[in-house]
Amino acid sequence: MKKVLIANRGEIALRLLRACKEIGLETVAVHSTADAQAKHVLLADESVCIGPPSAAESYLNMKAIISAATITGADAIHPGFGFLSEREEFVQMVEDHGITFIGPSSEHIRIMGDKITAKDTAVKLGIPVVPGSEGKVETVEEAKAIAEKMGYPVIIKAASGGGGKGMKVVNSPNEIESQLKMAQQEALANFGDKNVYIEKYLKDPRHIEFQILGDGRGNAVHFGERDCSLQRRHQKVFEEALSPVITPEQRQHMGEVVVNAMKKLKYKGLGTIEFLYENGEFYFIEMNTRIQVEHPITEMITGHDLVFEQLRVAQDKPWRLKQEDITFSGHAIECRINAEDPETFAPSPGKITKYHTPGGPGVRVDSALYDGYSIPPYYDSMIAKLIIHGPNRKACLARLRRSLNEFVIQGIKTTLPLHAKLVDNEDIQNGDYSIKWLEETFLKKEA
Ligand code: ADP
Repeated sequence: MKKVLIANRGEIALRLLRACKEIGLETVAVHSTADAQAKHVLLADESVCIGPPSAAESYLNMKAIISAATITGADAIHPGFGFLSEREEFVQMVEDHGITFIGPSSEHIRIMGDKITAKDTAVKLGIPVVPGSEGKVETVEEAKAIAEKMGYPVIIKAASGGGGKGMKVVNSPNEIESQLKMAQQEALANFGDKNVYIEKYLKDPRHIEFQILGDGRGNAVHFGERDCSLQRRHQKVFEEALSPVITPEQRQHMGEVVVNAMKKLKYKGLGTIEFLYENGEFYFIEMNTRIQVEHPITEMITGHDLVFEQLRVAQDKPWRLKQEDITFSGHAIECRINAEDPETFAPSPGKITKYHTPGGPGVRVDSALYDGYSIPPYYDSMIAKLIIHGPNRKACLARLRRSLNEFVIQGIKTTLPLHAKLVDNEDIQNGDYSIKWLEETFLKKEA
């Protein structure tokens, strides 16, 4: 591998570009016309414009991306997250062109991409799952029978869902018909697949996910868990590692469960196995077969550069990680900073008139912003990640508070004030929050 094309934008494109540069790989940036002045484009060795602003015509344009790789002689493509990172068809296309896809095989993306197949695979691999329907649910009668058996409330989910979209909670039998129809329609409209399935709706769980890496030859390790329970509309707002509620015994046990599963699968690359956790039990919800937004907190507590490891595995370099060498030091928290109104969450794109990042020990900012940069209105609103490491959770929170105070982003509205309020909250300080806490306790009080 000599030259890597980065098929993404924003902070993750920059993160990947930096890792490639550090190990002497040449880089190619691809960008839409709206991103010609993006930082990763300016810093890449080469860049290719692949289309107009709309993601469908640029970052999701498979042919344009493959052509860009061909004309620049890139021999590998890193998909980042979102966009084409979990699109089986794209991986197949990359493989067919003799280009290395930095990620798992198209077959593993396929079995983990569809959530019904993923749950089925998890069961076969010995991973505990949320109780629910066996496969898709098509008729109201089927849905009623399953809900009756599990007891209400239940949740109807899109098999091809993602980004927290396409989920309907059903509290009683008289809601099930309308919710099932709506879920099927929304699934078709959003994901082009009307298949839905049913799960027991857990009342007050936490979201706990394990970071894994495999080499495709049967070696695998885990890097501990992340707690991503702080969510709004099923989307993560702030993440921490390790989880304040998981014991070393639970970590060791679940770590073994996921590592054994990945060894059996001969999984290649980085992946995250996501669980809901309630009353001491773990329930698999899905696997992400790519690098994740919140990967830096794991890097902070383990000292491992996950993108570097990902690039090594993609190059089929000899495996050298041992589980006992992966140890945890201190505590890390990541705040996702969005270009949004901190109260209404309305998007707030526009020109950055002043930008000043916090610094000091244990402070990392992953962002592609710079003074004078204009945030285009076409893409995801996440513009920066503030990642803090401290010797323990309390010190980490104190450092986070101090860093949020130093962070200046002017010209647009951001969610920095929301994070500042969160650090001062007693429940957050005590680590006492579930996936529902932000919306049902914190934001309700604020309103
Ligand atoms: P997506 O791929 O859209 O992110 P997930 O299956 O990962 O969907 O679920 C996202 C979030 O939705 C979870 O973190 C949790 O907050 C909520 N959720 C999903 N399944 C359930 C369930 N069975 N019970 C309660 N909450 C759920």
